[in-house]
Amino acid sequence: MAGCIALIAHDQKKDDMAAFAQRNADTLRPWAIVATGTTGGRVLDAAPDLNVTRLKSGPLGGDQQIGAMIATGNIDALIFFVDPLTPMPHDVDVKALMRLAIVYNIPMALNEATAEKLLPTLRA
Ligand code: PGA
Repeated sequence: MAGCIALIAHDQKKDDMAAFAQRNADTLRPWAIVATGTTGGRVLDAAPDLNVTRLKSGPLGGDQQIGAMIATGNIDALIFFVDPLTPMPHDVDVKALMRLAIVYNIPMALNEATAEKLLPTLRA
């Protein structure tokens, strides 16, 4: 079974995530990808042949869905382009997700520079 990468980008980082997915489409293609709703839509627009499952939008529970998947052993890596400059209504969900990624020792990139280094090291 293919491994699973979770992709999330806050609103100010969605252009960066779309470009990241397009640039790295060959590397991402073997993976099952789960993404929060809006992020997943942007990724599919940029790279339509990727295997993306869209969950709820982040503020409506998408981050928590990904956290639950981490807790059940269904996520191999988390790539999350965080916007550190904008207050968010779902800040507690974001923290909970990051906490679970740490608890379960999931490789986690929180910015683009780290994601570019992490992605080539992963094996689907
Ligand atoms: P979105 O959720 O991809 O649905 O915008 C991401 C977030 O803001 O956590």
